Amino acid sequence: MSRTLIHEPSRRQILRFGVAASVAGMASALIGCPRKSESSPSSSSGGSSTGEEKEKTSPKTTRRADVLVIGAGVSGLVAAQKLVKKGRSVIVVEGRDRVGGRVHTDRSWPGVTVDLGASWIHGQIGNPISEIVSAKKIVTKATNWEARVVFDRDGHPLTNAQIDDLEKRYKDFLAHVEHLRKESDRDATLKSALDDYLADEKPSADVRRWFTHWVNTEIEQDYAADLDDLSRDSWDDDKQMEGDDMLFPGGYGQIIDALAEGLDVRLGETVRRISHGDDGVTVDTTSGAFTGKYAVVTLPLGVLKEGDVEFSPALPERKKQAIDALGVGLLDKVYLRFPSAFWPKDKQVFKYAGEHVGEFAEWLDMRGVASADVLLAFNAAKVADELEGRTDAEIEEKAMRALHAMFGESIPDPSAKLVTRWRKDPFARGSYSHIPPGADSKDHDALAAPIANRLYFAGEATRRDYSATVHGAYLSGVAAAESIG
Ligand SMILES: Cc1cc2nc3c(=O)[nH]c(=O)nc-3n(C[C@H](O)[C@H](O)[C@H](O)COP(=O)(O)OP(=O)(O)OC[C@H]3O[C@@H](n4cnc5c(N)ncnc54)[C@H](O)[C@@H]3O)c2cc1C
Repeated sequence: MSRTLIHEPSRRQILRFGVAASVAGMASALIGCPRKSESSPSSSSGGSSTGEEKEKTSPKTTRRADVLVIGAGVSGLVAAQKLVKKGRSVIVVEGRDRVGGRVHTDRSWPGVTVDLGASWIHGQIGNPISEIVSAKKIVTKATNWEARVVFDRDGHPLTNAQIDDLEKRYKDFLAHVEHLRKESDRDATLKSALDDYLADEKPSADVRRWFTHWVNTEIEQDYAADLDDLSRDSWDDDKQMEGDDMLFPGGYGQIIDALAEGLDVRLGETVRRISHGDDGVTVDTTSGAFTGKYAVVTLPLGVLKEGDVEFSPALPERKKQAIDALGVGLLDKVYLRFPSAFWPKDKQVFKYAGEHVGEFAEWLDMRGVASADVLLAFNAAKVADELEGRTDAEIEEKAMRALHAMFGESIPDPSAKLVTRWRKDPFARGSYSHIPPGADSKDHDALAAPIANRLYFAGEATRRDYSATVHGAYLSGVAAAESIG
């Protein structure tokens, strides 16, 4: 979540979208396209093509293209734009009835826009998503992570001195992790490093509880994984963009609209099998086959892990190892809309060190973003997995318990709620990738490696530098398109 601020700077349908635009250079040439919020299940002629296997039949009906791009998330859309720009004919094959994948702007509440998937441009400086923002004049709003209140379980706010102490301890803990890395040549869990640190420090019971909560919001929520699912040695191998974390008052979907413009995207085509050979690539979906010379596979790591899509011939051993070794964590959101705001106007972030570490532990004031009195809560990792098994009403009850602890019993009940379940989503099977014990960045590389100059791979989990982010997905799409030549 707060990826740019929590660590030391060193680490880490077929559808018509109007006139075709191209992604020139990076994102900056995505200009002048009309905004479109939701896709419709109609057909599109797609981008123009002068490719070597240029299709002669009507693009509205053909199921053959130079390149088949599997998945209409950020990585697939960018790859497709790049390839169209290079003169290739491209069909994007997407299982959902919408584009965007793990970027999903919801407008079901009249007049209110909320993002159910990605929220932020993490670090706006040098970020390719910022280029689209500039080119399209999209409004963004920085999150001030320092404008926060940290509540103890009984609702008392921690003092500034107590928060300063936690921040100092957090830096000490990260230094302790570095020390353990140098001491040992065998990887371990990040949880074992925390246990070790706490055993050395022997903090009071209160400080121990607050600190465990602090580490949850700083690491487990950000990486969407429990400390015992994170590699002590490699969890933070990724890099970070500089600058602020930026939210989209009009929704992240504006970026998707820009990226999807002019592309031939076939929605509702769930891929079941990908075969390749000397003659090219065949992609079998629930409604038939597509053929191409090449394919760019952007299936989420969670989908690859589940084995929902068969590869023929089977994937190389090293790629299978990488799929097994890397983890897919869970970050879920709960949006609550209230008849009126009861929380302080001058704060943006509310942290809650409740009895159950990580449960409704981090909240964001969305008033300046969603244009309504809306709070957003995050749950991650095992806590989120456990909550996905509960009903919306049960989840709301837990959320309200936390809010009552922080703001008192007299606060109003929410008038509406939105709850995500990214693990249960068959087209995602989790939120984003992380590095568990025993894995490292080389597994991201192995996931990215092309096969037989026919299958190319993209998606956030293929990036060793910016995995788990929108800009990582973007850069992976660029790289895959460049590899095809
Ligand atoms: C709750 C949440 C919050 C996040 N917050 C942030 C954030 O604030 N900032 C940030 O930078 N990143 C954030 N991320 C991560 C970011 O959303 C992802 O890294 C990025 O969107 C992934 O893009 P992708 O193209 O790799 O994959 P996807 O967007 O998942 O695209 C893959 C596509 O493949 C499709 N597909 C899957 N299976 C099949 C099949 N069998 N047949 C056909 N199509 C299929 C999917 O429907 C999807 O459209 C968040 C993610 C989540 C879930």
